[in-house]
Amino acid sequence: IIEKKIKSERKITYCDPEMPGYDIYEVTNTPYFDATPEKIQFKVSVKNNEFLPLKLSDVCYAVILNREHWSFISGNLEKLNEGPILSGFEKEFIIDGPDIHLLSDSRFVYLFLNGVPTSVDNVGNITQKDNFEWYFDCSFVKMESNEQINYSYEPTPVYTEKCPNCNGTGLDPETIECERCGGKGSFVNRFDGKTYKCPECNGTGIVHDVCKTCNGTGVKSYPKSQMPPATNIITWSGWVVKVNTIPSGATIKSMNSKTGQYDIQSCTTPCKIDWFCTDSISCPIIVEYNGQSVQVLPYTADGKELSSITIDFSSGKPIVKKGQKTN
Ligand SMILES: [Zn+2]
Ligand SMILES: [Zn+2]
Repeated sequence: IIEKKIKSERKITYCDPEMPGYDIYEVTNTPYFDATPEKIQFKVSVKNNEFLPLKLSDVCYAVILNREHWSFISGNLEKLNEGPILSGFEKEFIIDGPDIHLLSDSRFVYLFLNGVPTSVDNVGNITQKDNFEWYFDCSFVKMESNEQINYSYEPTPVYTEKCPNCNGTGLDPETIECERCGGKGSFVNRFDGKTYKCPECNGTGIVHDVCKTCNGTGVKSYPKSQMPPATNIITWSGWVVKVNTIPSGATIKSMNSKTGQYDIQSCTTPCKIDWFCTDSISCPIIVEYNGQSVQVLPYTADGKELSSITIDFSSGKPIVKKGQKTN
């Protein structure tokens, strides 16, 4: 019988940031086909036509597969040798042969039964023994089937152990003298003169800090899953912008798409710069002149892209003539 089987593989994968304290296993289920049972089986029926019980214990069995003699393992022989077959009865044996996968490169399988008693005299002496042999001509049919590999993800609690530093108590093993009672475990009330047990140290005079190894949790965890790699790729887009100022000679700072930081441009106005920005942040061009600074985006007031911006510093205060002022 050809059976569909599933090969299941479990391997650790990235952890889910929304499931802290869990390792995530990726389970891959790959279908494959295999024959069952695993061994070639021979069903042999032996009928005793004689009037005395038939003992098969002296019979030899062998299989020849791929021109090689394959002997039965002892366990199989014992099965055949158990008890005699009573007169007139038939007994069926299932003999486990070689592994079925050995069939793939051999075509003929021979089964031999040597020295089977076939005749006895009146007192039970064997008068005739015969050999039996069968041969099987095997043919192969290749079966193909498109099977899907199935993936599933299993969250498994992260393996934890008792914290080795605090032995699971969550308290630092180092003892500190209780400040409240000065290590005496009790104090005398000023008003009634009675002695009270110190509630801070529960009368022991000793207090402990929180264990630094486990932060007081008492457990040390061994996570196997790694954080997933960052998948948020930032896309920068932009265009060439000419920066003009009145008067000229202003300093320009613009966002560097490689570092995400503002860089001072090597040229002063009027100057063409490569302007870049991303969706997540605002990246105005910073124009500085005589201690005055202004931030301008290369857009019109209604959001149209501009290939140049103009700032007038002549009055002492920056006035954006062309572009979108952001500060
Ligand atoms: Zn105390
Ligand atoms: Zn601890």
